[in-house]
Amino acid sequence: MNGVQNQVKAVFLDRDGTLNEEMGYINHQSRFRIFEFVPEAIKKINDAGYLAIVITNQSGIARGYFDEQLLQRVHDKLLNEASLRGGRIEKIYYCPHHPTEGIGHYKMDCSCRKPKIGMLKLAEKEFQIDLNGSIMIGDRYKDIEFAHRAGLKAIMVLSGYGIGEYTYQRFNWKEQPDLICENINEAAERLHEI
Ligand SMILES: [Mg+2]
Ligand SMILES: [Zn+2]
Repeated sequence: MNGVQNQVKAVFLDRDGTLNEEMGYINHQSRFRIFEFVPEAIKKINDAGYLAIVITNQSGIARGYFDEQLLQRVHDKLLNEASLRGGRIEKIYYCPHHPTEGIGHYKMDCSCRKPKIGMLKLAEKEFQIDLNGSIMIGDRYKDIEFAHRAGLKAIMVLSGYGIGEYTYQRFNWKEQPDLICENINEAAERLHEI
């Protein structure tokens, strides 16, 4: 090797509670409500020099609550809406599996279900991403732990489960977020701070 290193940086985005309202399982299109500031946030992330990539656990598929066709429709909507201000979500990786619940081939102890880092490794390979220069944004403490385990910086947003976890559980956190923001829009403006 001639010192070639991955130069591409990414902001990895959790989905539920970060990009759209936390509604439990999104088992129908009507429950998928994208935050209104997402298009400008994605544009800001791109303008700061990062790919925007979504990584999300969707074990509702394994559990039989909805199918991949619905997930595809929901994700098409997300990709379309996110691009309204000229930004772009590069790709949405999702894990449809569950280790102990579920139907057919979806019931498996996969390597992609967060907190395992399979989806990050896939993205790293597909887009030649430098994970150590990349950032995770999520609404749950477990997103922060996951990010740090993989060598990413981590921003916790107070949308979704964030405000409750921050208010009642932060005293027990072993890892601290590198930054805490109201929502993804504020996070997108403050990427340079971490
Ligand atoms: Mg979430
Ligand atoms: Zn999986």
